[in-house]
Amino acid sequence: MYASQFVFKTKKEDPADEFSRGAKLLVRAGFVEKNFSGVYTYLPLGFRVLQNIAALLRKEMDQIGGQEMLMPALTPKAIWETSERWKILSDIMYTLKDRQDRTISLAPTHEDVISALLSRHLTSNDALPFYLYQIQDKFRDEPRAKSGLMRTREFFMKDLYSFHESAEDLARFYEIVKECYMHIFAACALNAYVTKASGGTFSNEHSHEFMVESSAGEDRVFVCDQCHFAENIEVRVEASTHECPECSRADLREIKAVEVGNIFKLGTKFSEAFGLYHHAQNGDNSPVVMGSYGIGLGRVMGTIADVNSDEYGLIWPMALAPFQVYLISLFKAGDNSSEGAVLAHTLYKDLQKAGLEVLCDDRDKSPGEKFGDADLLGIPYRVVISEKTLATQSVEVKDRAQGNITLIPAHDLVRFLISKRI
Ligand code: ATP
Ligand code: MG
Repeated sequence: MYASQFVFKTKKEDPADEFSRGAKLLVRAGFVEKNFSGVYTYLPLGFRVLQNIAALLRKEMDQIGGQEMLMPALTPKAIWETSERWKILSDIMYTLKDRQDRTISLAPTHEDVISALLSRHLTSNDALPFYLYQIQDKFRDEPRAKSGLMRTREFFMKDLYSFHESAEDLARFYEIVKECYMHIFAACALNAYVTKASGGTFSNEHSHEFMVESSAGEDRVFVCDQCHFAENIEVRVEASTHECPECSRADLREIKAVEVGNIFKLGTKFSEAFGLYHHAQNGDNSPVVMGSYGIGLGRVMGTIADVNSDEYGLIWPMALAPFQVYLISLFKAGDNSSEGAVLAHTLYKDLQKAGLEVLCDDRDKSPGEKFGDADLLGIPYRVVISEKTLATQSVEVKDRAQGNITLIPAHDLVRFLISKRI
């Protein structure tokens, strides 16, 4: 891709209507644009990141046996009445009437919808467990939407639902998802605490939230730096003590954090409401035991922008970056015959052939402006070809996260960057 084709340009000034650091950077760098409060457009750069997050989630979900599907956002009121959630969710649910005067909800979550679906398909002899997931657009009329992508009124969620014959089997899979989520957040370069939280309206059991420390976070969490124990302030029993209940170290730290993921044991609440039964060993029909596991794609993106950035801009991990390489040739644009321009063209093609995504800054701009944009966009590796580097048949490579600059022989560049991809 050539930077001269960019329609949405980078901005020098922070937007006046964004408050979190990540949102300011994402808007300035041309990744997203606010449509209205809590609703964003993903511009081409932002959409590439969103797609990379989706690809990572798909890979991880498929690895634990998930089957992908896609449920609609438009859902009839009857579904929510069956589970008695029409009232419970009324604060955040967008509702509308269609031309036949039917009341419709734009689904804020899909436990109810998937249970209604399965009630028409599941027979008591079907093999359990199975795991279904989707990456889908959700709608929530959030009262406060002021942290950019972290809390929006329309957002993509990866939601996984699991179906088991026993609470023991749910507990087994719950631990698998917990571990899977830690892989996912590690690949996103996010340091997430697995945090004990309330089971919400679902159950008396605890749920687990995946919390990332951030000044833009709306949750308060107590964390232990020694054993990584973490507990949401909402479920703390011994509020007066700072002793860790796991390792007894006496300095639990209170942090502000953002919830990037949440996993719940639903038990039989939905299966009983919607009539999902399986044939148990003792011959009886027993309600299916369910779990629900969510990750918000935009929230992950907004959180990375918030916590993995510096005064110069965004810093993407290799797996999620919109491009992995930002290629700058300091030879005059339009001079395609010079040795430098030929080398730039060759490297551009070779890197792409090797499977790397390259953004070539061919704009007629000063080196300073190009360097500034490379940093602002947060592309992991900046490669510069100049008179100076050409003299030694090398290129200059800057690692965005580390900040260090090294000279690499031009013929070795592809191998060097490929080795960084893992
Ligand atoms: P919060 O407590 O932050 O409002 P929640 O507990 O209501 O979130 P869940 O219903 O557990 O959220 O949704 C699963 C995941 O979806 C969350 O962990 C988060 O990553 C994402 N998510 C939830 N609400 C939003 C939102 N308004 N905007 C963006 N992502 C969201
Ligand atoms: Mg939650």
